Amino acid sequence: MTADDELLNRYKAVLLGFAVGDALGAPVEFMTPGEIASKYGRLTEMVGGGWLRLKPGQVTDDTEMTLCVARAVTTSGCWGLRAIAMEFSNWLKSKPVDVGDTCRRGIRNFMLKGQLESPPNQWDAGNGALMRMTPVALYTFGNNELLQKYAIEQGHLTHNHPLSDAACITYGRMIHLALKGAEKSRLRREADRLVADYPTFRFDPYPGLATGYVVDTMQTVFHYFFRSRSFEECIIATANQGGDADTTAAIAGGLAGAYYGLEEVPQRWLRKLEKKYFNELADLAGKLLRLSANQCISA
Ligand code: MN
Ligand code: MN
Repeated sequence: MTADDELLNRYKAVLLGFAVGDALGAPVEFMTPGEIASKYGRLTEMVGGGWLRLKPGQVTDDTEMTLCVARAVTTSGCWGLRAIAMEFSNWLKSKPVDVGDTCRRGIRNFMLKGQLESPPNQWDAGNGALMRMTPVALYTFGNNELLQKYAIEQGHLTHNHPLSDAACITYGRMIHLALKGAEKSRLRREADRLVADYPTFRFDPYPGLATGYVVDTMQTVFHYFFRSRSFEECIIATANQGGDADTTAAIAGGLAGAYYGLEEVPQRWLRKLEKKYFNELADLAGKLLRLSANQCISA
């Protein structure tokens, strides 16, 4: 494989790995590890069902909002916050299967007032901004300053909180490093840096909470990413922790995809993803890779 093919492969693995985690975890969203164990033993397949009554392989808001960001950037060929907000608006109007409260409020404030930045709010430290970060990382690959700027901009459409900002930036940086082929020890230093800046993110020992609070989400993703040895092991362990399982498994899937590459994403999961999502995500990966060579801002 050429270096270009290898990078395209990893770009695809980020977006498809993310969607795979969403579809695996969604049926057990809001369940405890004990409830999952008594119902499924160990959940290893996309079973569908859950509180959203999903079809096997169906994705939720996490993947759909990720698609919104990726579509906005690739349609115009440039970064544009208004275009992203428009995609979110159209998505919200389409009556999605699920949408977080903070996301809904931010999108409604754009629709009603044209607001592109939510005011700071101490309660807005949910994982809703983090869960749509993968296209930002892919688009800004090679430019750390743009990553920081756009991570915060897109996050503040709905979530304006320093812990959400810090999580988005760290996650994006780790994806950049993994795309470059960094070892886990290097990624671990990035996680440790977040903990040094914000000790609340400390994940060793793992507190065992996997709620939608961005701190719990990051701790869960770090814990299972660093202790597992394959994409499959990482995503299964994350989903079986329950709680906000679709979101934690999706975020873990984006990072693990960048690190392990597409060959390591189980074929049986890729085949089970809804075909139109599979195709669009693969296509968007290629477009984001091309655009990352020539970043720009739309008027
Ligand atoms: Mn979801
Ligand atoms: Mn969720």
